[in-house]
Amino acid sequence: MSCVTHVIVATPAHSALGEPLSYRSELPLAPGTLLRVPLGQREVCGVAWEAPAEPDSPTPEQLKPVLGPLEGLPPLSAAWRQLVGFAAGYYQRSLGEVALAALPPQLRALDATQLARRLARAAPPAPDAAPAARPQLTADQQQALQAMAGDAGPFLLFGATGSGKTEVYLRAVEALLERDAEAQALVLVPEINLTPQLQARFEERFGAAAVVSLHSGMTNPQRLRSWIAAHLGRARIVLGTRMAIFASLPRLGLIVVDEEHDPSYKQQEGARYSARDLAVYRGRLEGAKVILGSATPSLESWQACDRGRYRCLEMPTRVGAGSLPAVRIVNMNHQPRGTLFSPPLLAAIGQRVARGEQSLVFLNRRGYAPVLACTACDWRSECSHCSAYRVFHKIDRTLRCHHCGYTERVPRACPKCGNVDIAPLGRGTERLEEQLAELLADTRRPDGGPVRIARMDADSTRHKGALEEQLAQVHAGEVDVLVGTQMVTKGHDFRRITLVAAVNPDAALFSSDFRAPERLFSLLEQAAGRAGRDAAHADASEMWVQTWNPEHPLFTALKRHDFPAFAEQQLKERQQAAMPPFAYQALLRAEARTQEVAQAFLQAAASASEALTGSDRVVVYAPVPMTVQRVANVERAQLLLESGSRPALQAFLADWQPVLHGLRMKGLIRWAVDVDPLAI
Ligand code: ADP
Ligand code: ZN
Ligand code: ZN
Repeated sequence: MSCVTHVIVATPAHSALGEPLSYRSELPLAPGTLLRVPLGQREVCGVAWEAPAEPDSPTPEQLKPVLGPLEGLPPLSAAWRQLVGFAAGYYQRSLGEVALAALPPQLRALDATQLARRLARAAPPAPDAAPAARPQLTADQQQALQAMAGDAGPFLLFGATGSGKTEVYLRAVEALLERDAEAQALVLVPEINLTPQLQARFEERFGAAAVVSLHSGMTNPQRLRSWIAAHLGRARIVLGTRMAIFASLPRLGLIVVDEEHDPSYKQQEGARYSARDLAVYRGRLEGAKVILGSATPSLESWQACDRGRYRCLEMPTRVGAGSLPAVRIVNMNHQPRGTLFSPPLLAAIGQRVARGEQSLVFLNRRGYAPVLACTACDWRSECSHCSAYRVFHKIDRTLRCHHCGYTERVPRACPKCGNVDIAPLGRGTERLEEQLAELLADTRRPDGGPVRIARMDADSTRHKGALEEQLAQVHAGEVDVLVGTQMVTKGHDFRRITLVAAVNPDAALFSSDFRAPERLFSLLEQAAGRAGRDAAHADASEMWVQTWNPEHPLFTALKRHDFPAFAEQQLKERQQAAMPPFAYQALLRAEARTQEVAQAFLQAAASASEALTGSDRVVVYAPVPMTVQRVANVERAQLLLESGSRPALQAFLADWQPVLHGLRMKGLIRWAVDVDPLAI
């Protein structure tokens, strides 16, 4: 007597509405069982699932048979399935897509079960014989940990840069493992490649065998190994990027989200989930404590504290009593026109060089407008495939489109009028480095040598190992001035840097992106946190900002390192404008052969939405081309939805899904919904 097993597989097309497929099995298979099933001509990995709400009821004999479970792997837990079900529903994707994307790509291979068997058989990892020495906790750290011990959370650990948040995470994990030696902790970081220090610190404290990592920079076999170690409950600590939020952790007791404000916690393709938001959901679901840590929390999390949904734990003091750097604002209105580096900033950098200290000069954007322009006509280095400007790369004298990659050598003369005088508009990091070298040509280091300037951005670190090499040079003191984009501000521990300068941050103040000021404050505060980490120099450390808007409240708050004041001002503005977190948004994006088709699809979707649940509480705006309208000959447009009620927006989106699937249009390439988009 065989039976029907419901299985989800990674086929968005088949399961457009998220329904599991039906298969025949000899014995009932428990939901969560990992198995192999036939799909068309292929054999794919699937997960046995609960029966859908309205199952069609074929007899087992009409169905294709399950090919067999993946042996040695226990079923995925009910909590895991609920997490996946929630994410699929909330972010408007199919169950199969979310579930299968959360599993390591190699799971289908036979060696998965062999590996599982070997790991089951191996002796459990021995506790570390001589755990590393632990520092004496600061008063702030002690208070935070005490508060966490006596409360369910979620917690927002609002700690200044250098206040020792990592030590709090380590102790929270330690406390968890003391209570329950089998428990597991999940620690999320925005970019694991930039934080090998963190992994080293966890391994040092808990032993290398207890810690595994999960991120996209790993090879498939490595990922499979880590995943199985977590799934079998052998790994105590899983350290990972956003994808790790879906790790199977049968004994999950704690989730840490470090730098919780970081935009990279939002997945930008497929199921566009927020790992930070899912962490809070998962914590509640599994009774695990959740710690969100940041020196500049997202306004969403800050507001959640205001409303009593999260508990805010403050750590205002830097470890070792080093103070945060003094902020110097340079009013660029008082400088000669065209000034790149103001004389007082140059003098301050010069002093650092002369004293043998390091400076960090950063731009809040990659290659800030290094677009070529003709001085005689209106020609600019536009991309012929995109509605974007190509960027001038001096090193190989090319024009590169940063969106579609289209590359050409710089023309000898203006393609439009023949004028030979074509020059960069604005300035990129390459030009900055060059200008700085000229301006500091006469400055000498303590040993009499010339100043050494290095550039660090996505270009200079593209080759494997280049980032590590550059970081090592900075750490070794072989660089006097480091020029770079925001990547230099992320989490690096540059002990000898005593001056940080933002030379042109104003564009973010009046951006069309309403989150741009929030990003800028965070970026500047994180950058400031790079300075003065070395207690010996802490008091001389400075953060310089050149601006045409010195009276802007953002800079007033920055001067005092007063995030709460900045957040209060921003939240007031957001509330008045009914913007998130006071409203909830979703985007419908469409890609098509022509802009007309993309917009016609969105228009049809908007018209079809009038009768949907919640439509009286959801505002549907007009379709617009995306900021970057055309990428590699594909036209892109979007439609914004807004509501004061999250449940209303959710109900609306759920009702809209089948309607969208039913809309067919010639020339339409694809569409997708982005719930809680980070940029509109
Ligand atoms: P944050 O993540 O809050 O910016 P870190 O966790 O990196 O700060 O801590 C800053 C520095 O202080 C690190 O070098 C860390 O080893 C050190 N540190 C943290 N806690 C203590 C402590 N209680 N005693 C001594 N040093 C500490
Ligand atoms: Zn011209
Ligand atoms: Zn292009």
